[in-house]
Amino acid sequence: MASPPLLWTLFLFFIIISLQSHGEEEDTPITRFQQYLRFKTAHPNPNYAAPVRFLVDQARSIGLSTRTFEFVSGKPVLLVTWLGSNPKLPSILFNSHLDSVPAEAEKWIHPPFSAHRTVDGHIYARGAQDDKCIGVQYLESIRNLKSRGFSPLRTVHISYVPEEEIGGFDGMEKFAASSEFTELNVGFAMDEGQASPGDEFRVFYADRTPWNLVIRAEGIPGHGAKLYDNGAMENLMKSVELISKFRETQFDFVKAGKAANSEVISVNPVYLKAGTPSNTGFVMNMQPSEAEAGYDLRLPPMADPDAMKKRIAEEWAPAIRNMTYTIIAKGKLRDHLGRPMMTPTNDSNPWWSIFKRAVEATGGKLAKPEILASTTDARYIRAFGIPLLGFSPMINTPILLHDHNEFLKDTMFMKGIEVYESVISALSSFEGVSDQVI
Ligand SMILES: [Zn+2]
Repeated sequence: MASPPLLWTLFLFFIIISLQSHGEEEDTPITRFQQYLRFKTAHPNPNYAAPVRFLVDQARSIGLSTRTFEFVSGKPVLLVTWLGSNPKLPSILFNSHLDSVPAEAEKWIHPPFSAHRTVDGHIYARGAQDDKCIGVQYLESIRNLKSRGFSPLRTVHISYVPEEEIGGFDGMEKFAASSEFTELNVGFAMDEGQASPGDEFRVFYADRTPWNLVIRAEGIPGHGAKLYDNGAMENLMKSVELISKFRETQFDFVKAGKAANSEVISVNPVYLKAGTPSNTGFVMNMQPSEAEAGYDLRLPPMADPDAMKKRIAEEWAPAIRNMTYTIIAKGKLRDHLGRPMMTPTNDSNPWWSIFKRAVEATGGKLAKPEILASTTDARYIRAFGIPLLGFSPMINTPILLHDHNEFLKDTMFMKGIEVYESVISALSSFEGVSDQVI
């Protein structure tokens, strides 16, 4: 039987414990961000069910409606909707992806799914920048707008899609091509961007399109000592030289400051395959009959895909040198009406002007709009002619997507909410008919 002093001690103990746990469970935008960061969404086995449940709860807690689609079983697409007062007007869509790239936990200073917040406010987690920040900021900014009594004219949708980090084929590609997406009547969309180490927000108006190019050469084999024409290796090496020259010319534009890295066509060798294998390596006195090289090509939207194909067919892998090639285009360069897939960033595009003013209204500045060097799900939306800007509001932040120790500072996360409040309220209030302009 416990004596009164012991009971008193136990009572105090429980009071302290409950106060402490209350502190931990404090519900703020930051703790909600941390909660979302703690879901293990890294490939190859991303957990989609738990974060979707969390987001549905969040959306409902602020009075937004939700729908979940499964175009591929086990890979949900969550759609959150804030109905506008004129739902006939084209809607605004804010997209983010649910999944993350893997993290090598032993190379991190804090576990990558702990969402540890340091005393100086750095929140460490895989996905802190790419792109769970925007996923939560969209909701938090709507929460604030609602609490201030704002109501949108146009309907605002937020989509959370799976599989972006592995190409989006079972995520946004299927969603964007679905009748459910068409019914949303999206007039303008936003998707992820990238952090900016400087003090200007970065914004992206296009992605580059990757092509996987393989060139192959064939020729008669010959003794290693023989000099003769049209050997496979010789033919392949001629092409390798030509491709290197082209690469150099493109790179010269970048070095001279005439173009950004993402504005030129990059072509980089990724493998070479040739030789006759032996037990110890390769047969050295034999010139092989086949040789092959693989290249990673990236084309900006203004590149002419037909001109590129002609160059490959006539110069890089010409049949007259017994060469063949295959191109696997990992995406489109033109939209459904044959136009380059890029969103105008000038006053011809009213969405751009509204977006720019909305960012500036928060005291922020936009850097010169860029083409993203890699690809995102944005391409699947731009392919339908829908204008889209890539934007993640992070300034004075090192670019750490896919890197060890990815983090975002709490104050920057909060600033992002403020930016989206301005952006969402401005875009969703736009009355004009803009759709013929784009
Ligand atoms: Zn991303």
